[in-house]
Amino acid sequence: MTSAPEWATAQQLQDDDALDVVRLDESRGLGVRTRRAFATGAVIHRFAGVVSGDICQHSLQIDATRHISGTRYIGYLSHGCDPNCRLDMVGFTLVALREVASGEVLTVDYADTEDRLHRQFACCCGAPACRGWIHGRREGPSEEGLAWLAERDAG
Ligand SMILES: [Zn+2]
Repeated sequence: MTSAPEWATAQQLQDDDALDVVRLDESRGLGVRTRRAFATGAVIHRFAGVVSGDICQHSLQIDATRHISGTRYIGYLSHGCDPNCRLDMVGFTLVALREVASGEVLTVDYADTEDRLHRQFACCCGAPACRGWIHGRREGPSEEGLAWLAERDAG
């Protein structure tokens, strides 16, 4: 098992001039918006936080047993089924999957990192490939999710 980079457990979480945490709307809550453009493959942000075994609303999974919480930005990333970013949980970086414009809301696929979600939810990302109901990669849809999917497929 690799140990977390030094900045991952830094006590002082630095503000990043390139990012803002903003309230998107009622249903989506908080999100992260860029303040400048990034090229495909660019490291958008290096993150730090508290590493432990606990899953909470804004934690992200590092590996089979560890989660990072208390991060300045990445805990507020929105989910997208066709995301513009991905999280590198070895290097502790947020990387652009395509060109990202200034002012764009950053998205990651929660199922890329999370075995289980703190809370499953109906997705409204608008991607043609939207999966509809979002759950972790090692769990199926909850009862609520199964009911949601049945209703969607009946419609
Ligand atoms: Zn979606």
